[in-house]
Amino acid sequence: MEMLVDLHTHTISSGHAYSTLSENALAASRRGLKLLGMTDHGPSMLGAPSLYHFGNLAILPAELYGVAILPGVEANIISHEGELDVPLDYLGRLKLVLAGLHENCYPGGTVEQNTQAYIRAMENPFTDMMVHPGRPEFELDLEKIAYKSAQLKVPVEINNSSLSSGKKTTQDNCHRFANYVAKYKGPVILGSDAHYWDRVGVFSRSLELIQEAGIREDQIFNTSPERVLDYLAARRKKRFNIQTA
Ligand SMILES: [Zn+2]
Ligand SMILES: [Zn+2]
Repeated sequence: MEMLVDLHTHTISSGHAYSTLSENALAASRRGLKLLGMTDHGPSMLGAPSLYHFGNLAILPAELYGVAILPGVEANIISHEGELDVPLDYLGRLKLVLAGLHENCYPGGTVEQNTQAYIRAMENPFTDMMVHPGRPEFELDLEKIAYKSAQLKVPVEINNSSLSSGKKTTQDNCHRFANYVAKYKGPVILGSDAHYWDRVGVFSRSLELIQEAGIREDQIFNTSPERVLDYLAARRKKRFNIQTA
């Protein structure tokens, strides 16, 4: 399986990541990627960029070292209702919107509250993809998330950094989630979640996991930049229809 897309990477703008966009793009190019997401953390995370960062992304080149660049955000879910920490007028201008739960940004809650928050964010037409459901900080109903992802056709991530963390709960969660993805046959995206250039496009642990779980190749977005771009364009068209209705 040829992996051509990594949509989840961070730059120095995130505050706790250590490479520039140019360094990440060069690494992506050397790994043979064709499409790279630049998804720095939303403003409610400690050290993350302000909204000014997200308002100025249009100055970036569309391509670096032969790799197409999608500037976006990894937005933080900040409430049980699944609200994000980036206002709609900013989200509407971004080329890629990932969303997930992070410590110090989300208040925490019961499994039901956490799952509701995650699914509400997934239902938001301004969200493109959901990240790292396997992280252990906030317990989620992983079966419900895999089922909803298949229904809504919104990809949920198998996060390579989570799998590399060495924490048993995280590994178990990721394995259970992958089994549910195989069962409900929803779309899936593998993300490196690189916070340094040497991790960009590294999917070794996630690839092992999807093979073990029996997730089919046609469920995986990373093999086709065209499929990702078509999906993102369709999401934006749907939003436009909602905004003008
Ligand atoms: Zn994250
Ligand atoms: Zn991330």
